[in-house]
Amino acid sequence: MPYLDKEKQKAFQRKWLKARRAKHFKGKKCAKCGKAISSSTAELDHKKPKMNRTGHKIWSRSKEVRSKEIAKTQILCKSCHREKTNKQLSKMAEDLNTILQSDSTIYLEEQLTKLIKEYKNAKK
Ligand SMILES: [Zn+2]
Repeated sequence: MPYLDKEKQKAFQRKWLKARRAKHFKGKKCAKCGKAISSSTAELDHKKPKMNRTGHKIWSRSKEVRSKEIAKTQILCKSCHREKTNKQLSKMAEDLNTILQSDSTIYLEEQLTKLIKEYKNAKK
């Protein structure tokens, strides 16, 4: 039910979004190291690398959108998530570096297009 007071309304929304998130993580374990997690240490990780724009908004989405998005994720603890993201970023930087070392513009263009395509496909 809408509140007349906007701040109260916001606080209420934050509260149920937090509860929804906590419910998803309850009793789960990190998919990588197997440690038990809590809603404060758990993070949703897209199994395939994705530049995630919906991010934290996922919990306010309709159940249908949410389940679809959640199906593409796994639960990781903060440190495993950080490690995975760092690895992905350094791999991306390495790929880019290799390509940029070339003197051939045509090669550069080809390889960049290929790389962009690869990362775009990984999103799906
Ligand atoms: Zn972990």
